[in-house]
Amino acid sequence: MTPSSPRPDPQHSIVTASIIVPCHNESGSLQTLYTRVRAVMDEAGEPWEMICINDGSGDDTLLQLIALHHQDRRVRVIDLSRNFGKEAALTAGLDAALGEAAIPLDADLQDPPELIPELLARWREGFDVVNAVRLSREGESWLKRASAHVFYRIINRMSDVGIPPDTGDFRLLSRPVLEALQALPERRRFMKGLFAWVGFRSTNVYYHRAPRHAGKTTWSYWRLWNLAVEGITSFSQVPLQLAAYLGFAVSLLAFLYAVWLVISTLAYGNPVKGYPSIMVTLLFLGGVQLMALGVIGEYLGRIYEESKHRPIYLVRQVWGGEHPTQAVQP
Ligand code: UDP
Ligand code: MG
Repeated sequence: MTPSSPRPDPQHSIVTASIIVPCHNESGSLQTLYTRVRAVMDEAGEPWEMICINDGSGDDTLLQLIALHHQDRRVRVIDLSRNFGKEAALTAGLDAALGEAAIPLDADLQDPPELIPELLARWREGFDVVNAVRLSREGESWLKRASAHVFYRIINRMSDVGIPPDTGDFRLLSRPVLEALQALPERRRFMKGLFAWVGFRSTNVYYHRAPRHAGKTTWSYWRLWNLAVEGITSFSQVPLQLAAYLGFAVSLLAFLYAVWLVISTLAYGNPVKGYPSIMVTLLFLGGVQLMALGVIGEYLGRIYEESKHRPIYLVRQVWGGEHPTQAVQP
């Protein structure tokens, strides 16, 4: 489904909560996930759907999802044509959501489904965005937590949108927020940033983050680094400005050094020691220039990507949701 596809009139929507689950090699968690979501949602007594996006899994995730769909029609499955990454998978799910509110949830049960009633309660109080903020992160290394902390500090310094720290993609988004997100044209999606960028009235609820239920994380430090670069370049132009300021500072220092050289030669007749100082300045300036070019390259590459206007994701097949009435019948 593309953002422009027709959707049911929200007034007559028959689903309250759309739970959106991007799945990449999650076969070990899906059954437990479904059981826990169903228990919580049936208890809450709200009509719900669970949209699982198979993001190019190499294991039997898709087969399990289809089995779940046949068992319970409220489980809808979107199979992407390959691995597009979590941000794209999430976008696919948000685009397909029929609910009045959408709740992205990790398939590995690191986000407890038991928190959903609380999110819904705050939404009923009139909030459009309800962030689930992590009080603790079990089973994650010290380095990962520290780097996440540094990243949030840097990005919030550099950009105008306040990205709440310790908030993953687990949150509640109301229909107006969903529509605002769908109206954003960018292809490269740093979801946490976009969620914050659209604004709306938001509030927080708090929880303790559990370790992964099964399988292992696909986010290596390299991928996390790239996500961080994506976040910063999507939401801040400070690195571009820094290059200019750095250039200015270096030129100023070079000028002062030149003045000092002239004076010291005139006053003391010092012969200028050439080779080492030339090498040092040359290499230093070369490095600074390459770094500045690299920063420009990061932005240029993103402009190039955007200018191609490729779709964010491609859907191979969809199970459920073609007829909205099916969504509420188990
Ligand atoms: N995921 C995805 N596509 C990917 C990588 C991950 O859809 O290319 C999903 C994954 O199945 C899980 C969620 O994104 O539901 C979070 O991934 P993970 O648990 O690996 O990340 P972490 O919790 O370590 O940040
Ligand atoms: Mg996880």
